[in-house]
Amino acid sequence: AGTVVLAATPIGNVGDASPRLVALLERADIVAAEDTRRLYDLANRLGVRVGGKVVAYHDHNERGKADGLLDDAERGATVLVVSDAGMPTINDPGLAIVRRAIERGIPVTCAPGPSAVLDALALSGLPTDRFCYEGFLPRRHAERIRYLRTMLSEPRTIVWYETLHRIDESMADILEVFGSERLMAMARELTKDHEQVRRGTIAQIRQSVLDDPPRGEIVLVVAGASGDETRAAGAAMEVGTVLGPEAL
Ligand code: SAM
Repeated sequence: AGTVVLAATPIGNVGDASPRLVALLERADIVAAEDTRRLYDLANRLGVRVGGKVVAYHDHNERGKADGLLDDAERGATVLVVSDAGMPTINDPGLAIVRRAIERGIPVTCAPGPSAVLDALALSGLPTDRFCYEGFLPRRHAERIRYLRTMLSEPRTIVWYETLHRIDESMADILEVFGSERLMAMARELTKDHEQVRRGTIAQIRQSVLDDPPRGEIVLVVAGASGDETRAAGAAMEVGTVLGPEAL
């Protein structure tokens, strides 16, 4: 039988593509891609010729497409699953085919690589021994406030994805529910030329969003409710080094 391979793709810096990803793009019989244009764009930037058949595999068709792809795998095909960026299944398509592969007894493996969750967590300076990834914050204010209240006594470091056009409202709500003193980090444009991590208290980061609205893709990391080291009254906000175009 063939195999299903989930492969992580770069979240900004094309240099993060692993040799294994490159080999899989060249050799897989079928490439199931969240967005086929983005896949060809990545392949072009890597100087890779995609060898196999390319099919669209996204949030809206993944349940329907999974079994057909697995039929191909059962007949011996290597089916590569990639999303637009980062690790498939992490707020991206992929889970449906993993589940069905497990149910059908078809081998599934992973070619790991970049994912914004771990990148932001590691750079946050906050405890990494225990953390929870909570995906995107709810879109609507009332729902977001309700949800944030349920997270108030979460002891682990919390990681959220957020989009640019909601960062202002979300930071206001985080301040309202969590208060001003807890430590947090806002990581944006990870691995890209304008990578930046702002670290400080919730109040400081909220103010920095007003003073200097961030651009690009954003991950928020907030300290858990576990202890003194996650509160820092009076500490200065710190803005991490911006990578710059020459950076590796
Ligand atoms: N599967 C991806 C992963 O493993 O990170 C996540 C896909 S999710 C649809 C997209 C969100 O991930 C963005 O809105 C942002 O919150 C986060 N993200 C992805 N790339 C990022 C980057 N280079 N810098 C900061 N955040 C990023």
